[in-house]
Amino acid sequence: MSREQQAVARARKAFETGRSKSVEYRINQLKSLQRLFSERQKEIAAAIKKDLNKTEVGAQFYETLGLEGEISLFIKNLKEWAAPRHVKKNLLTMSDTVYIHPEPLGVVLVIGAWNYPWAVTIRPLIGAIAAGNAAVVKPSEVCVHTSKVMEDLLPIYIDKELYPVVTGGVPETQELLRQKFDHIFYTGNSTVGKVIMEAAAKHLTPVTLELGGKSPCYIDKNCDISIACRRITWGKYSNCGQTCIAPDYILCEPSIQNRVIEEVKKCIKEFYTDNPKTCPDYGRIINQRHFKRVMAMLEDSNIAVGGENDESDCYIAPTVLRDVKPEAKVMQEEIFGPLLPILPVSGLDEAIKLINKGEKPLALYVFSPDNKVIERMRDETSSGGFLANDCLVHYSVSALPFGGVGNSGIGCYHGKFSFDRLSHLRGCLVKKLKMEGVNDMRYPPHTLKKLGWARFFILNTVDVGWVGRMALLAALVVVAAAVIQNYLL
Ligand code: NAD
Repeated sequence: MSREQQAVARARKAFETGRSKSVEYRINQLKSLQRLFSERQKEIAAAIKKDLNKTEVGAQFYETLGLEGEISLFIKNLKEWAAPRHVKKNLLTMSDTVYIHPEPLGVVLVIGAWNYPWAVTIRPLIGAIAAGNAAVVKPSEVCVHTSKVMEDLLPIYIDKELYPVVTGGVPETQELLRQKFDHIFYTGNSTVGKVIMEAAAKHLTPVTLELGGKSPCYIDKNCDISIACRRITWGKYSNCGQTCIAPDYILCEPSIQNRVIEEVKKCIKEFYTDNPKTCPDYGRIINQRHFKRVMAMLEDSNIAVGGENDESDCYIAPTVLRDVKPEAKVMQEEIFGPLLPILPVSGLDEAIKLINKGEKPLALYVFSPDNKVIERMRDETSSGGFLANDCLVHYSVSALPFGGVGNSGIGCYHGKFSFDRLSHLRGCLVKKLKMEGVNDMRYPPHTLKKLGWARFFILNTVDVGWVGRMALLAALVVVAAAVIQNYLL
């Protein structure tokens, strides 16, 4: 038995003990996970520093803070989310108990990516634990140090039989994918997403694919360009551009291109100093393979700002490219690095046309003071998420579903969406063995009269609250009648 097979078998066996079905047990596991983040910040931050050159504050800000918030949200709401959900009934089922009973799926495989290694690996795990599943956790091998820390720390804090960590690269992931899971939750690029889906199809395993793509950013010439560029500069160059929802490229009218370049340049200086290479808040490209990939995109473009680089340090300066054409290399795939191309367009119509020519992106950004522009952009395009006048922050709202559409992903998560995604929402109906007469209309011989009754009973839903109120009213009338008869007459 391979190491991967053993981990899956262990998780399945632990799931079959039934201990993860107890909501109290799940809450305790989440509390332990919460402790990991309060007690082990130093180890977490040291590894992220080595992997991506993030500061300790940066690591908390962009990785663990959101996780702590997510865990608290689950601890607070889990009992309610896991409880049976009563639903509206039709007249035929009026006297029955009809409800949705969320139940665990079984063993979930969580495959993480390297760019925000804690955020994208642990968030799905929180959902898996909360929904009562076992989960095999496979961190990305690309973030070497973080993957090791996860392998060391998770078993200290949470049930290591129910939630084993498997480290390794492509061969190990592929060996995992040969095993049978009840759900696969993958975060990474769209090419590998297809490999995951193909492997899952062999077992008819459902998948959630959190993928990437080129997220466009349209700047309306009438907006406050200075504020827009400040928010875009932050969204683009955080984590050295290696953010799945980073604005990938800017679309704007030629008349504002120079102004946009100047404002972005000003913000780069303000955020990362004159020399971002020595600025502690500026990250690094994850490895030399990705460094070469990003640098190759610069070949046929005009650099307006930045461009400095150092392969030995995986450093690429925050860079802006001007007058970029849709055919340019930088426009052929998701950049996932600190290059910001500006594509001049004649206005909103051309911007929408250009966006719709590409695959559906993970995020779409529009900066405009005009609601009509914002609404047109929203209604005439499609994307995983949509944001007006800011970047990235929709990720932090747990009440919003986070996920892609089309090439940018399948399924969504965060907060209750994670819980529902990793649960089976079982439809339940409990009837009493009484009132058999009501059922006559469904038994043969089928007649038009019975069909008429069936139409009446099935096509009418019941508002239980209203019926309840009516019943109370009726009871009051009966009591009042009795009182009148006994005492008043
Ligand atoms: P990666 O290289 O770390 O790969 C992700 C996982 O896939 C790893 O665990 C790896 O072991 C596994 N893997 C890689 N190749 C494989 C193969 N051939 N067969 C089986 N498994 C394989 O991450 P990446 O793909 O470079 O991540 C960057 C991409 O992820 C970007 O496109 C980014 O937009 C996207 N992303 C999306 C989100 C989101 O929430 N939607 C978040 C982060 C990153």
